[in-house]
Amino acid sequence: MSDVRRENGSAAAPYPLVGAESRTGRSAVAVGGAVIGPDTFTLIAGPCAVESAEQTLEAARMAKAAGAVLLRGGAFKPRTSPYSFHGLGPAGLRILADVREETGLPIVTEVLDTRDVDLVAAHADMLQIGARNMQNFALLRAVGAAGRPVLLKRGLSATVDEWLMAAEYVAASGCLDIVLCERGIRTFERSTRNTLDIAAVPVARALTHLPVVVDPSHSGGRRDLVLPLSRAAMAVGADGLIIELHPRPATALCDGAQALGPADMDALAGLVQEVPLLTGRVATGGASAPRPVAR
Ligand code: PEP
Ligand code: MN
Repeated sequence: MSDVRRENGSAAAPYPLVGAESRTGRSAVAVGGAVIGPDTFTLIAGPCAVESAEQTLEAARMAKAAGAVLLRGGAFKPRTSPYSFHGLGPAGLRILADVREETGLPIVTEVLDTRDVDLVAAHADMLQIGARNMQNFALLRAVGAAGRPVLLKRGLSATVDEWLMAAEYVAASGCLDIVLCERGIRTFERSTRNTLDIAAVPVARALTHLPVVVDPSHSGGRRDLVLPLSRAAMAVGADGLIIELHPRPATALCDGAQALGPADMDALAGLVQEVPLLTGRVATGGASAPRPVAR
């Protein structure tokens, strides 16, 4: 019996909806025409925060040119300090929707508050639950009922079991289109922003049928670590990456130190070229990549 099952005190599947034994084979999650898992490797990229229409469009073009098939970008930003930039809110959502129109890239963006779920779902193709909200159970239930796929980040100090239980909340509210995201955990180590728990990728993929992607940007917190951590994620079987980039990282309002910039785009595109070799999968975003569904 696994530790997870022992902790839950029963030999019955602890995750009746997201557990690996609840279905045959792995899930593929479709997001506005792009697909995450299990045969493809999906690149999601974009700025930490939506700062302006111009910055978001420039970042989206960078992302697309590097091979991304989904655009990430925060309109509502969870920040450690109440005095930091918290995003443009509803105006940021409208910018994201405009940039989707312009580039064809579906959007994943974070929702922080149950009161904003409907508004965010009306603009975005996928709802992100950030690390700080992984155990906000009211929010998990609300996004589960919102009719959009969900990207569920692992909490800063959450065990894999707690992370999967959070996914079970989303599933129990009606949404099985869930993608798990390992984004680094809090440890004693200070040389990186967080410690990428690379083992959590195959562990989570063994326990559930859900796709698992890796966020090398928040894991390392350093631009120079993004590509090496991405390669590690590819090698352990991740279903994709979510990467922060910015047209001018030095002026970014949020997370500039970890954002890839224009000078890094050739290296990122090169990494995508390595996908078949490192993963045995097809990289999304090639000539035959799925087009977003018109909406
Ligand atoms: C983000 O994706 O910008 C973010 C805030 O990430 P996390 O919730 O993993 O810290
Ligand atoms: Mn960020």
